[in-house]
Formats: sequence, C-alpha cells, structure tokens
Amino acid sequence: MLWKKSEKLMSTISHYAGFPATGVSLRQMVQFGEKPSTGTLFRASQFLSEELPIRLAHRVEELGTLPDGLSEMPSIKKVQDWYAQSFEEITTLKRPELDKDTRTRLLSPSSKGSKILSQTTQNPWLKNRNGNGSSNSRRYFAHIDDGNNWPPELTDYNKRFARTLEGIKRRHDSVVTTVAQGINEYKRRRQRMQIDSSIQSFLDRFYMSRIGIRMLIGQHIALTDQTGARHPNYVGIICTKTNVRELAEEAIENARFVCEDHYGLFDAPKVQLFCPPSLNFMYVPGHLSHMLFETLKNSLRAVVETHGADKEAFPVTKVIVAEGKEDITIKISDEGGGIARSAIPLVWTYMYTTVDQTPELDPSFNASDFKAPMAGFGYGLPISRLYARYFGGDLKLISMEGYGTDVYLHLNRLSSSSEPLQ
Ligand code: ADP
Ligand code: MG
Repeated sequence: MLWKKSEKLMSTISHYAGFPATGVSLRQMVQFGEKPSTGTLFRASQFLSEELPIRLAHRVEELGTLPDGLSEMPSIKKVQDWYAQSFEEITTLKRPELDKDTRTRLLSPSSKGSKILSQTTQNPWLKNRNGNGSSNSRRYFAHIDDGNNWPPELTDYNKRFARTLEGIKRRHDSVVTTVAQGINEYKRRRQRMQIDSSIQSFLDRFYMSRIGIRMLIGQHIALTDQTGARHPNYVGIICTKTNVRELAEEAIENARFVCEDHYGLFDAPKVQLFCPPSLNFMYVPGHLSHMLFETLKNSLRAVVETHGADKEAFPVTKVIVAEGKEDITIKISDEGGGIARSAIPLVWTYMYTTVDQTPELDPSFNASDFKAPMAGFGYGLPISRLYARYFGGDLKLISMEGYGTDVYLHLNRLSSSSEPLQ
C-alpha cells in the first residue's frame, strides 16, 4: 500500500508551517490531574489537532529543503512521507457535530472569548493564532467540568483521536534509525566522513522536535486511557513523584547487565550510588532512565576498555545525586581514562563514536528501547542532552584525559520551563 502526498496536501502543509509551534510546560501537562473529564480531554485534543499538524508541517518542510542534496536520500524521503501522512491523518479526522448546549459547556468558563467550535469542520484556532505562545498554550489545558453526562459523540471522538495518535506514534517509532540511515546514505554518496554543522544543527532541531511531539502524543494517549485504577502519582506519562534513587538503581543494573553481556564479563565494573532514598520530583521517568542508562553505559565501556576486560577488579564509577532548590544534579564520575580535549566537541555530534564497527542499524531499534547495544551509534550523548534540555535541564561533560570523565546531568525541578522550540 503506497501512500503518496498530493499537491493539495503539500499546500495545506505549507500553510500550517507558517504558524509557530507553541511550547507547553511540564506544569501545564500535569494540570489535567489523574482523571480528566471527557470535556477536558476534548479541549486538549482540539489544541493538539492544531499543534501537532503545525509541528509536523515544519518537519516536512525542513526535510524537503536540507543542504547538499541530503533531502534526496531515500531514507530521508521516506521519513518526510511519514510526517506528511501523519499530518494528513490528523487534519482530516472528522470532528463531531455538537449541539448548542455541549458547545456552551465546552466554552465555559476557562475558554471564554475563544472561537473554538464556532466551526466544526475547519480547525477554528488556526486563524486566531497570534504567534503568542503563552496565550496559545493556555488553551492546551482547560478544565471543563467533571460531569460525565457528555454526549456519546464526544467520547467517541476522543477515542478516535487517541487511536489516530497511537497509529502515528507507531509509524514514527523508527524515525531515529531511518534518519541515521539517511545520513549514512548521504555520507556514502558524497564520500564524507563527518557531517557539517548545518546538518548537526538540523539533527538537533529534528530530534528535539520529535521528543516534543512524542511527549504530547504519549501524554494524550495515556490521559485518554486513564480510566481504571491507576498509580496515584501519574498524570499521563508524567510521574509527580519520580524517585531518583529507584530509577538510578535500575539504570545501573541494566547498564551493568549490557556491559557483562557485551564484554563477556562475569562481573561488570561496580557502580556506587549516593542518593537520598526519598528524593523525588516531577518528571517523565522514561526520559530520566534513558539519560542515566546511556551515560552509565559510556562510563562502564570506558572503564573496561581503559583497564582491559581481563582485569580482576575495576575502579568504581560513582553516581552522586544532589538536591538543590532549582536543580537536581546527577554526577556520573568514572575512571575510564577520560577524553582528549580535542575530541570533546565531537562527542556531541551524531554518529561520532570510537567504536570501530557500528552495529547493524535495526529499523525496529527505538531510542527509548532498553535493548539498545552497548555503544556504536554515537547517539547516546547528543540525544540524552536533548532529553535534559527538553524540560529546561542540561547535560555537561568534563574530562580529565588520562584519568576519567565526569558527566553532569542537571534536571530543572521547577518544571515551569516551556519546551524549547527553535
Ligand atoms: P556511542 O556510545 O554509541 O559511541 P555516545 O554518544 O554515547 O555514542 O558517545 C560518543 C563517544 O564519546 C564514545 O564513543 C566515546 O568515545 C566517548 N565517550 C562518551 N562517554 C565517555 C566516557 N565516560 N569516557 C570516555 N569516553 C566517553
Ligand atoms: Mg554511548
């Protein structure tokens, strides 16, 4: 089944691409509470049915105008088609015809003055866009009322919308590896060894945007499904009491397991964790696990390769967690020989790795998947830094060549910072 984008679709896409994306903060995302009403969910879906197409449209346009013929690479074209197809699915999803009562109910009280639902077939918000991100994002969360006597059309629409998003999320699972494949095609065809800074910054923008899109989609699906008994600390995929120690222990265990498996070790280098047991904050556990797992794998690899896999005992890697008012900072401190100062800028570039043979690019591999290999894609650090920055944090690396590396993972605990949109 070959899907083809039409002229008309491309012109709608470029119309949407003329609008700026609207950032949403972690705080706004948790305002939905544990069990949003049908009306509240519907309002959120109306925001998303505008916001997601805008974000997708920006990506379609950018994928089509990359420098130096990169846009012509088959894998890049494939990804561009996925974005266009997802755009089409959201923008053509039929909205319910609603009676006057329901419309009034949906409008009040927090949405007064908004033209939402004044038209049911076109996206009513698009033309009211003023480029003012904060006033737009306030529409994302509108607590309607908790009554559950909503018309069945609304419940039905919410379900259809969530199902559409599920399909889109699945379609885009292998975007990271497919784009990586596209970069490989480009390097081969142009006989380039490294990618230049314009491609590097495209990839930063592109993957950051993907994190944001998947966050909004994942959050909406989880909110819609949040019907039965749920863990009380979760709002969608956000945990309001993410326990740092538990996640760190799990990441250490996973990284050590992958390390033992990869090097055929009986006992991977030890990791010592210093973290107050009850330290918790509002975060997306999946993101934190990803960052910890990636940085720990790097440390363990450096330790094993510097000291030799046949060593009896290795120096211990330390994970130190500090709780400040503004940040929670996690330092991962290893004695894996460090990195030469001249190579530091390279570690942040995609596909930079000191592994000789990059493992097969498996299209089913997904960056948030835990079956990730020990190393070799060169995606661990740059993607982890994007995750950290997505919620206003950062990832820094300081090396002492000849001794070891300290990675600082800063996580913003105020969580009012908005998504970074270029
Ligand atoms: P990969 O692990 O797939 O190579 P990363 O982005 O995780 O990709 O890391 C890129 C490179 O940075 C690694 O190949 C390694 O050379 C270097 N590096 C990262 N972390 C460390 C560390 N803790 N000690 C020494 N070198 C490191
Ligand atoms: Mg790595």
